[in-house]
Amino acid sequence: MTVRVRFAPSPTGYLHIGGARTALFNWLFARKHGGQFILRIEDTDQKRTVPGALAAIMDGLRWLGLDWDEGPDVGGPCAPYIQTERAPLYQEWAHWLVAQRHAYRCFCTPEELEAMRTEQLAQKQPLGYNGRCRYLTPEQIAAREAAGLEYVIRFKMPREGETTIQDVVRGPITYQNGQIADAVLLKSDGLPTYHLANVVDDHFMGITHILRADEWINTAPLHINLYGAFGWDVPVYAHLSLVLNPSGKGKLSKRTQAFDDEGQQVLVKVEEFQAAGYLPQAMVNFLANVGYSTGDDREKFSVQEAIAGFKLENINPAPSRLPYSKLDWLNGQYIQEMEPLALAQAVKPFLDAQGLEVDVGVLLLLMPALSKRLKRLTDAIEFLRFLSDDAPLQTTAVDLTHKQLPLEQARLAFQQAREFVASVEPYNLETLSAGLTAIGERYTLNSKAGPFLGAMRYAVTGQQVSPPLFESMLALGRARVLARLAQAIEVIGG
Ligand code: GLU
Repeated sequence: MTVRVRFAPSPTGYLHIGGARTALFNWLFARKHGGQFILRIEDTDQKRTVPGALAAIMDGLRWLGLDWDEGPDVGGPCAPYIQTERAPLYQEWAHWLVAQRHAYRCFCTPEELEAMRTEQLAQKQPLGYNGRCRYLTPEQIAAREAAGLEYVIRFKMPREGETTIQDVVRGPITYQNGQIADAVLLKSDGLPTYHLANVVDDHFMGITHILRADEWINTAPLHINLYGAFGWDVPVYAHLSLVLNPSGKGKLSKRTQAFDDEGQQVLVKVEEFQAAGYLPQAMVNFLANVGYSTGDDREKFSVQEAIAGFKLENINPAPSRLPYSKLDWLNGQYIQEMEPLALAQAVKPFLDAQGLEVDVGVLLLLMPALSKRLKRLTDAIEFLRFLSDDAPLQTTAVDLTHKQLPLEQARLAFQQAREFVASVEPYNLETLSAGLTAIGERYTLNSKAGPFLGAMRYAVTGQQVSPPLFESMLALGRARVLARLAQAIEVIGG
């Protein structure tokens, strides 16, 4: 049997971190077994469909590296993969169920349904359709049809017995059939509900395993009965754990903002993580750990290792919160492992967006100093802020002097440094290092270059934390360094 799994989002917005986790688990399982990962869009609730959502979901999956074998854009043997484009198929099977007496036409109007609900609430009865149209005689049905009344098609849920979901993650879960109302399968506009479209598609798309969010468990008994009525095999179910807020309190909602223990807002959209400077490999590693135990204690592993070790039995049913601090740690680790050129290229767009335009070649020089300090690619912005001329140097004479470099010595050293920088050829790491170290040794009281080079670094960058001096000077370029030295000399009264 070839494994076929699907990620079936409704296009109601961006890709949420919980959705990304569901997609990832499906993808890992497909890749582990050499099967197919299918992207299917469940858009039959058109009121909730948001323009642009499909593109946003696909962008998010692509960024994470979760490629799909079949889907709306790439097509495949079961095309189309967008449910509103498959309406005739659902209509055909809804009517087939009616013909087989597994479903019936329901002519109840919205007002009648509302009155039913009010009555159930008043009588403290369980809510849900009471089956009124289930018992209409053929004559009554014919009369209503002749009168042109609108109808929906409802499933005739067995009234007796029980239904057990064999969930690989949670074990068997049993429901009493009598507690499950007759669900609408086809709406009066001819579009299916989620239940019908989901079951018909999973069958005709040859889905073997359904790995999906915990919130869908309650729909499984209805779906299992639908498979039974159609005479189709039930796929294997694996419901993933609920994803909690980082505080551990409550579900991580996709609609409202989420907060951590300290009340800080946390990210929930995949695109927000991307914009905040997380790497896709860190995200994938992070998400692969949510509600999953690898069996060993390793928290950092490559995507190949995640695929190789993936087992449905290792999915943990307990609700899991997202440890965002672990994501920061992982991201920092992956940043440190990046080749300098790749890191420079990854950082560059974030700098460009801030107007800090640095040549990749120059950025490359800064990478060794930078890579150890970054948790997120965006951290580079503060570190390299000195490359912007918009932030005037706020240095004072105190910042530019030192116990070993009193004011008078500092003046002389900075003046000489300016002359040196103005004329040194070539202007590169070696010449700058040799020339400025010599000046430092000449003017400090202890004949060590350190105090002067520290003051120089501050004069040039205006930052307590910055890349090393010579690299920073190269990144700025000679003219801008000279301008900043002139400013420093003015500050110390030269
Ligand atoms: N369309 C559902 C969702 O938005 C899919 C549920 C399922 O996978 O069965 O999550």
